[in-house]
Amino acid sequence: SETVHKDFVRQIVEDDLKTGKWDGVVHTRFPPEPNGYLHIGHAKSICLNFGIAAEYGGKCNLRFDDTNPEKEEVEYVESIKEDIRWLGFDWEDRLFFASDYFEQLYQWAEQLITDGKAYVCSLPLEEIRTGRGTPTEPGTPSPYRDRSVEENLTLFRGMRNGEFDEGVHVLRAKIDMAHKVLLLRDPIMYRIRKVEHHRTGDAWCIYPTYDFTHGQSDSLEGITHSICTLEFENRRPLYDWYCETLGIHHPQQIEFNRLNLTYTLMSKRRLLQLVNEGHVSGWNDPRMPTLSGLRRRGYTPDSIRKLCESVGVTKHNAMTDMVVLENQIREELNATADRRMAVLDPLKVVITNYPESQSEELDAVNNPEDEAAGSRKVPFGRELYIERDDFMEDPPRKFFRLGPGREVRLRWAYFIKCNDVVQDDDGNITEIHCTYDVETKGGNAPDGRKVKATMHWVSAQHAISAEVRLYDHLFVTEDPDDVEDESQTWQSNLNPDSLTVVEAKLEPSLAESKLGDRCQFERKGYFIVDQDSTSDRLVFNRIVTLKDAWAK
Ligand code: ATP
Ligand code: MG
Ligand code: MG
Repeated sequence: SETVHKDFVRQIVEDDLKTGKWDGVVHTRFPPEPNGYLHIGHAKSICLNFGIAAEYGGKCNLRFDDTNPEKEEVEYVESIKEDIRWLGFDWEDRLFFASDYFEQLYQWAEQLITDGKAYVCSLPLEEIRTGRGTPTEPGTPSPYRDRSVEENLTLFRGMRNGEFDEGVHVLRAKIDMAHKVLLLRDPIMYRIRKVEHHRTGDAWCIYPTYDFTHGQSDSLEGITHSICTLEFENRRPLYDWYCETLGIHHPQQIEFNRLNLTYTLMSKRRLLQLVNEGHVSGWNDPRMPTLSGLRRRGYTPDSIRKLCESVGVTKHNAMTDMVVLENQIREELNATADRRMAVLDPLKVVITNYPESQSEELDAVNNPEDEAAGSRKVPFGRELYIERDDFMEDPPRKFFRLGPGREVRLRWAYFIKCNDVVQDDDGNITEIHCTYDVETKGGNAPDGRKVKATMHWVSAQHAISAEVRLYDHLFVTEDPDDVEDESQTWQSNLNPDSLTVVEAKLEPSLAESKLGDRCQFERKGYFIVDQDSTSDRLVFNRIVTLKDAWAK
C-alpha cells in the first residue's frame, strides 16, 4: 500500500516511473560471475533484482559475467541457473552472457583508440600499479601514453591476433593520471590471456576487464537500474565514463548493502578454498552458506527469501545474526512439518510388567499446529529406547526426567516408573528397568496424579536405524576474520565440531521417508532426508534445533 516505507532502491524506481525518466520501463539484471556456486548473499541480490522487476511490471535478465576464463566453468553456470530457479525466479528468454558481447566490446575499444581515448601500454603490471599514485599524490603518466592512433591500432590488433605473450601489452583508457578517483587514472580495458574460455573456446586471447564489460553489457540489454553491492560504489565513475564516452544507453548504477551472516562467510573464493582444502565435502555440504548447501540442509526457498526481505536494503553494510535465518525456517516448519519420534542417543528401557511377546499400536498426532495433518499409529512394546540424557542415576534437584524411583510420561503412551538400573562391568548403564501403569494409556492418570516430564521414545522391536547428521556453526567466531594473532588465518576459526554423526533409532513410520522429506523429531529439531540415503539406509540432516541453542 501507499503508506509502506519503500527501501531507497524501490524509491528510486518509483520516482523514475513518476518522472518518466526511462519511459516507464523497469529493466534489471542479476549478473553472477560463473566462478563458483551462489551463496545466500547472492540470494539477496536475486530477490532485489527479480523482485523489483516483478513489482513494477518490468523485466530482469540473467547475465553471466564471464570475462575471467581461468576461473569460470560450465558446472558453475548450470548450478547458478538451478539455484535461481529453486529460489523461485525465472529469467524466461532473457539469458545472456557477457562473452556474447566480446566482438562488440572489441569494436568499442577500437573506437576509443581512434578517438584518442585509449592506448596500448607496454609497462609491466607492477609498474602500472605503482604508477597510479596515491589518493594524495597524482600518478605518473605511462611513457606509452602518447602512442599514435595508428600504432595503437596496429598493436591492439596484434594483441587480438595472438602476436604477443601474456603481460607484454595491455589496453588502457586515456582518462586522467591525476584524477581524484584512482580507478580513473588510465584503467586497464584489455589484457592478454592465452586460455580457453568455457564458451568462446580459443576464439579470443585478449579479454576485457570487469569495468570495460559491465556497463556496456547493461547498456546493450537496455537495463535501466543496474543494482550492485556497495563495494562497486568507487567504480561507478568509470561505469559512467565508458557509457558517456561511447555515447551509448546509460543505465543508472545503484549500490546497496551486502548480506553478511555471522559464523559463516560470503566469498566464492573462500568457499572454493573450503571445498579444495577438504574442510567440507563439497559446494553443497549442508554446512555451507551456498544455496545448494542450504537446500540440502533443508532450508526452503521461502525461508531464504524472507530472510533477504527482513534484512533490508540500505547504504550500510552490517552483520545479520544467523539466528534470524534459523528463526525463519523454524517458524515455517513449526506450521508445516509432521512430528515424529526419534531417539538420537538410545538407552534401552525394559517394561518389566509388560507381557513378553505383546505389542500394541497407539495414536499419535502428526502436527498439533495443523489438524488436517491427522494422526498415525506408533507401536509400543516391552522394550523401548529413550534418550540417554533423559535418564540420570543420581539426578540433581532441577532434573525432572527419569531417575530411580521416578515416574514420567511417555509421549502418546503411558506413565512409566524406574525401578532398576543395569550396569556393565565398567559401570556404564546398559539398560533400565521400569514398570508401566496400564491405566495411564494416552498420557493421563485416572487418579489425577501428575508427572513433571513427557519424553519421546521408540519401540526397540519396531524401530529402524538411521544415520543422523547434526550440525553446528561452520566457524567458532561470528566473524571468521577475527583471528587471535597474525600467524593465524580465517581457517583457524573453523569449528572442528561442526558435524556430529549419530546412529539413531526412529519410529517405523519414518521408513517410508523420501529424499527431501522434512519432519520434526520431537524435542530434537527439524530434519530432512539427505541425498546420501540408500534404499536400505536413511540419512537425515538436522536443519535446525527447536530453540535457538545459542541464545543463552
Ligand atoms: P563473491 O565475492 O562471493 O565472489 P561477487 O560479488 O564477486 O561475490 P558475483 O557473481 O559477481 O559475485 O555477484 C553477482 C551479484 O551478486 C553482484 O551484483 C553482487 O553485487 C551480488 N552479491 C554478491 N555477494 C553479495 C552479498 N553478500 N549480498 C548481496 N549481494 C551480493
Ligand atoms: Mg565478482
Ligand atoms: Mg567478489
